[in-house]
Amino acid sequence: MTFTTRFAPSPTGPLHLGHAYSALLAFDMAQAQQGRFLLRIEDTDTGRSRLAWEQQIYEDLTWLGLTWEHPLLRQSEHLPHYNAALMKLAERGLIYPCSCRRSDIKAALSAPQEGVPLAPGVYPGMCRHRKMDTRQSGDALRLNLGHALKTLGPLNMIETGAKHSGTHQLDPKQLMRDVGDPVLGRKEIETPSYVLAAVIDDAAQEITHVVRGEDLYQTTFLQMVLQALLDLPTPIYHHHGLIRDEQGKRLAKRDDARAISKYRADGVSPSKIRTLVGL
Ligand code: GLU
Repeated sequence: MTFTTRFAPSPTGPLHLGHAYSALLAFDMAQAQQGRFLLRIEDTDTGRSRLAWEQQIYEDLTWLGLTWEHPLLRQSEHLPHYNAALMKLAERGLIYPCSCRRSDIKAALSAPQEGVPLAPGVYPGMCRHRKMDTRQSGDALRLNLGHALKTLGPLNMIETGAKHSGTHQLDPKQLMRDVGDPVLGRKEIETPSYVLAAVIDDAAQEITHVVRGEDLYQTTFLQMVLQALLDLPTPIYHHHGLIRDEQGKRLAKRDDARAISKYRADGVSPSKIRTLVGL
């Protein structure tokens, strides 16, 4: 199979040095393998995505010297695909509607818990008993992770990034404790969560290697569950180190000082950006 990778930014702010690293690394890896490099715009969060940011992504990446295949995939144009997958999971009784607000979750987590303690912020399952036909407008849709895991055998991930390099078997107990029942469909009708949409598109675009930051390492195990439930292949993963500021904090979209556009405006060259991110 041809080595195929992608860079999948969300147009919710300016690309910073960390994005440049991820995109350049994926691009270089594809070139080294005479493979394919795709760009995917992950714009399902309609509240935060902006066309102006999307336009800037094209400009920044072009300035960095990257080229990608056309037409590119914009997730907002593929909503029915994600919805079909959600309904497939719902038909198998793996999805339930959830009306809990952040404050409800916080209150439930601060009460004494039975059984294995959950990691901070993990959904304690107040709506887990609900059936799909009780869905009200405004309810999110969650995966019943415990139920889903019971339907699956052992799952393995191949990782080539330096920090976690090797083959890793998914640990169901750890996933239940650290991730819990994820939201797969948000409150608005037909808006999938990032985890679900990315899994569907990685398969649709025949991605063989996912190159992304190690902040998403744990998310990969959840995505493997979705891949197995939806009969989709699991790509090879390469989680790279994060670019940090002088205080050791990872860069965020609000760190305008590290925005690629800012470096461009200051007359920094694309090859200097490569040096700055250690390539
Ligand atoms: N849209 C996601 C992000 O910007 C992409 C993550 C991924 O590469 O899977 O963080």
